[in-house]
Amino acid sequence: MSYEITASRKRPQNFHQMAGQEFVVATLENAITTERIAHAYLFSGPRGVGKTSSARILAKSLNCELGPTTEPCGKCNNCKEITNGSSMDVIEIDGASNTSVNDVREIKDEVLFAPSSSRYKIYIIDEVHMLSNSAFNALLKTIEEPPPYIIFIFATTEIHKVPATIRSRCQQFNFRLIDADTVKQRLIEACNEMNLRYEDDALFWIAKEGTGSMRDSYTLFDQVVAFSDDHITLEKIREKLGLVGLDQMNQLCEYILEGNVSSVLNYVEDILIKGVSVEQFIIDLTEYYRSILFLQSGIDRESLLGFSVDRFNGKVIEGYNRTQLEKAIEDLLKLYRDIRYSLNQRYELELTLTKFCSLTNFFTSRELYDKIKELQDNNQSHPVSQVDQKKK
Ligand SMILES: [Zn+2]
Repeated sequence: MSYEITASRKRPQNFHQMAGQEFVVATLENAITTERIAHAYLFSGPRGVGKTSSARILAKSLNCELGPTTEPCGKCNNCKEITNGSSMDVIEIDGASNTSVNDVREIKDEVLFAPSSSRYKIYIIDEVHMLSNSAFNALLKTIEEPPPYIIFIFATTEIHKVPATIRSRCQQFNFRLIDADTVKQRLIEACNEMNLRYEDDALFWIAKEGTGSMRDSYTLFDQVVAFSDDHITLEKIREKLGLVGLDQMNQLCEYILEGNVSSVLNYVEDILIKGVSVEQFIIDLTEYYRSILFLQSGIDRESLLGFSVDRFNGKVIEGYNRTQLEKAIEDLLKLYRDIRYSLNQRYELELTLTKFCSLTNFFTSRELYDKIKELQDNNQSHPVSQVDQKKK
């Protein structure tokens, strides 16, 4: 089954549809309403969180035939042309592929001409940090004394590479990573629009994998939709993408806690035979112990755990202390770094897991010291213990 419009191609068309950038949106809307429009904006932040989308929405807000307005109509010629990328007055430039001074010189000449059919002539320069120093210098002259109808919107994932002279002349906005709950909400909306059934956990997993990027989350979502047959479930995702499920982790870690080496090794075989890679296994196991550590520290935010609290195995949570969980996570992170040089990745995994079977015996030297000290102190306060008396 194929869908005509996939979620990843669906960019926000107005400020209402922007996910998770409330501060940026509020400030921009306020600027539009009060007609305090800057001549240069600098949008910085991680990839896929809405910088370019915001730049286009701002362009539409300013150039909409019914505007300037915080709610561009989306129907007038100007709005449509900006959406299609065909507007003569909104020029998008990819800094990554236009790094020469000549391209910027061209801009310098072009800005002398007024916009052809809109209020403003807007330059959106993406990945602006990629411009060369001389290109920046050429640009600087234009930003310093821009004609009143010119607006620059720069976007960058690496703000520290943008020269201070440029930064100081721009109104700056920092875009944040989008939290998993917000992303999940957007995915639910996409499911509803596409008439798809879904499991909450499945969408949450996608949101978490997107690590705060709406774009990456949508891309993964599309991939999942493609094999989900109208119903998105965690089980299907696990199977198709070769992941270890939470229920499997709960079982495996219970065997580990019990010190049941043979069950652990058999269970690992069962999981790997289904096509899970050793690498993925380690990632999933690390995440599991991390969640257990969080739970033990009293953190139960679903957005950090990826699942609701009651989905985790209570025995595992209660079976370890913090030191032991830290040790497990440390060992797994090291294992992940080491396996690339390994003779056999699977042996390494098995070895680590059999060692984990005695994890409950692990104490730090500090804890051992404290224990000995405690025994010593006890001894001193009761110099003649029962044992000593028996000896006599
Ligand atoms: Zn319009």
